[in-house]
Amino acid sequence: MATVRKSSITWSNWAENQNFEGAAIEAATEESVQALVRSHARSGSGVRVAGSGHSFTPIVAPRTSLLKLTGPCGVISVDVEKGQAQIWAHTALHQIGPALWERGLSIRNQGDTDAQTIAGAAATGTKGSGARLGSISSAVVDLALVDGTGTLRTIDARTGIASDDRTGADLRAGRVGLGLLGIVTRLGLQVEASYGLAEHNSAETLNDVLDNAESELSQVRHYSLFWCPSSETSVRFGLPPTPADRCWVKRLETVPADHAWVAATSGVSGQPGSRIGRSYLVYPDWADNQPFIELEYMVPGNRWKEAFLSIRELMRSSYPEELSPVQVRWQAQDDSFLSAQYLRDTVSLSVVGDRDGDYDQFLRAVHEALMPFSPRPHWGKVHYFDATQVKHAFPALDQFKTVRERYDPTGVFLNSHLQGLLTIDDPRES
Ligand SMILES: Cc1cc2nc3c(=O)[nH]c(=O)nc-3n(C[C@H](O)[C@H](O)[C@H](O)COP(=O)(O)OP(=O)(O)OC[C@H]3O[C@@H](n4cnc5c(N)ncnc54)[C@H](O)[C@@H]3O)c2cc1C
Repeated sequence: MATVRKSSITWSNWAENQNFEGAAIEAATEESVQALVRSHARSGSGVRVAGSGHSFTPIVAPRTSLLKLTGPCGVISVDVEKGQAQIWAHTALHQIGPALWERGLSIRNQGDTDAQTIAGAAATGTKGSGARLGSISSAVVDLALVDGTGTLRTIDARTGIASDDRTGADLRAGRVGLGLLGIVTRLGLQVEASYGLAEHNSAETLNDVLDNAESELSQVRHYSLFWCPSSETSVRFGLPPTPADRCWVKRLETVPADHAWVAATSGVSGQPGSRIGRSYLVYPDWADNQPFIELEYMVPGNRWKEAFLSIRELMRSSYPEELSPVQVRWQAQDDSFLSAQYLRDTVSLSVVGDRDGDYDQFLRAVHEALMPFSPRPHWGKVHYFDATQVKHAFPALDQFKTVRERYDPTGVFLNSHLQGLLTIDDPRES
């Protein structure tokens, strides 16, 4: 069986705002990934790997070759006692849920779509919402990756550890690695005993939301909301009917896996907004039919109201024609160097622009409105940060860069987008 296939392609991401024309390589085994990284490093060319292409930024684009992992995917093994699962890196989230469920386990937290690969989702810090829940990357306990010399390495909490007993620097760099440390082939995820979710969603007034969000947050597993500037917003974005200047509030409460409706063969029952079912079937609730362009910034948890109100004011005064909802979600802090939750609890605020319209001006205005609140960008969503702002927003950037240099000494995984943003010199030019 051939383990490497080469061709020439035009690749586009999901939103079709990022395109790459050039060499495409499919690799089916870890050995073939090692061989092609070695050959790219030797020739001074570059390779990057694509997941499901659900990022909006030029974060996938390689200098030379775009790699797609093929070969076996799915859950490799589980350790029920430790609550951990080993998963092939290019497995899509929607494949992981049912495979874990069969083994009595569930992912701790998910976002509102499940099309991403587990490696791609972790690499950019993809997250859902919940005051006590971290991002998908924060649940990564180990990684197997092919580094820039073509060596297959395993990183766990003890790798790169200094004198104390905290999680080692290499895992803290590798969890949100932006594809810069290597090609991840497998990863270990902290999961938990399988659980169901019951939705209790409703349209609420803004004042009620501002008064009650904090207390509600602590009572449910997942709490998030969409503020709708217009009554047309819910129609356009597939939300249940929500009047102008009100919020569609989403609450997910944990229910036991053996609850009759959760355990039923279909796995989920009820109408959208009041469903009850297996966690992996209830988290994703977004209709994947109308491509858009999204910006999402994470602000310190205690500043979310001011930050949210500044976007609302901007939209009402300067962009009354924009229909975008403002989605508000909560995340717990972690210690990954490039995580938007690095050592701080966050609230994420996101807006979308019309992919086929002039979204740039609106999203840039939202960026300006949020900058006074010390935001951090989502690496996979459109943002307007420059290198100085990135350095300021991510205080552990230099620690990340030190680890990156060890894993990719010749810069085989660099691309111009990330080199510019993270201020990484090109070793081939020195
Ligand atoms: C419709 C939609 C809904 C979304 N919902 C959410 C949400 O609810 N929450 C949220 O936080 N984000 C969300 N996102 C953003 C999305 O989760 C991230 O951009 C994520 O990184 C996409 O995963 P992917 O598999 O498509 O990876 P890609 O976009 O293909 O790649 C992302 C990065 O991961 C790297 N990568 C991929 N595979 C590997 C590997 N094997 N080894 C090393 N590096 C690798 C790539 O090189 C690239 O740098 C959404 C995006 C869309 C389009």
